[in-house]
Amino acid sequence: MQASQDDARWTAVLERDSTCDGAFVFAVRTTRIYCRPGCPARRPKPEHVVFFETAAEARAAGFRPCLRCRPDAAADATGEAVLGACQLIGESETPPPLSALAEAAGMSRFHFQRVFKREVGMSPKQYADTRRQARLRETLPGATSVTEALYEAGYDSAARFYVQAHRALGMPASDYKAGGRGQAIWYALTNSIVGRVLIAGTARGLCAIFFGDGDESLETELRARFPNAHLVAAGEDLRECVAETVAFIDLPKGAFRLPLDVQGTAFQHKVWKALRDIPFGETATYAEIAERIGSPAATRAVANACGANPAAVAVPCHRVLRSDGSLGGYRWGVDRKRELLRRERGESN
Ligand SMILES: [Zn+2]
Repeated sequence: MQASQDDARWTAVLERDSTCDGAFVFAVRTTRIYCRPGCPARRPKPEHVVFFETAAEARAAGFRPCLRCRPDAAADATGEAVLGACQLIGESETPPPLSALAEAAGMSRFHFQRVFKREVGMSPKQYADTRRQARLRETLPGATSVTEALYEAGYDSAARFYVQAHRALGMPASDYKAGGRGQAIWYALTNSIVGRVLIAGTARGLCAIFFGDGDESLETELRARFPNAHLVAAGEDLRECVAETVAFIDLPKGAFRLPLDVQGTAFQHKVWKALRDIPFGETATYAEIAERIGSPAATRAVANACGANPAAVAVPCHRVLRSDGSLGGYRWGVDRKRELLRRERGESN
């Protein structure tokens, strides 16, 4: 995009506004060099300037980083500081005060608040609330390391940190915080080969397939996941949809044809997509899935994403095993996992 005097970014460049470092870079067509907004070097003519959201985009367009302001390092440093704050928030039982976060980041409170909001898309306070809710939703027990927490929040590398909150959370932050407020969700309870099943959907697709032992606990689980949604029992018009889903659970050959509307983080969606690529009758290990999504170190986070899968069998998390071939966990009980796999191997009854 061309620089113009109306562009707030050009104003930031003219003012050498270092609080914008990491938010974007500006590149100069004549020198083929890109800089952070706070670069102390002389200012180019506005007609020669192009803006990029990230240093990576500037590099991809054939520009080289300025040796004086080192725009890549600036972006990394800001990203690291904000990452560090996110880690601190994620590890704390109660949200740390703004002053403590700013001090840890080596910034003034005002500057920190501004940079954090710019990078994450919400204030540190809002982020802390969101993390706490995410923690409540997590179904797997056990401690989560900092790296895993970041993976789960959708940040699979520091460079990818520049995502807006709605991408990281899988839905706009306001909707997420409201627990599905204003959304109508239909649901049906029926039988499958592995017991009672609750099937639920929005207007866009299925949002939940849960197994359970009793209807009451299944309804409670649905309500806990969408506390502010308007839940309605499925009518006649959804009978075929429910029947097709049950048929798929009983023998999940081929691809599931109904649309899914599952809510999760960017990382979870990546894992769930990889799970859907495991063919009927085959299995993969958590490590292999981590490898396939390009995050080989994230085995544990992959296991957590499997545990957070809201759509049993449609997203076949039961096809993921430990590296030693043992079953590993299953959100709906290892017995159900064993039974589903047994049937897929053709060992019916
Ligand atoms: Zn520079």
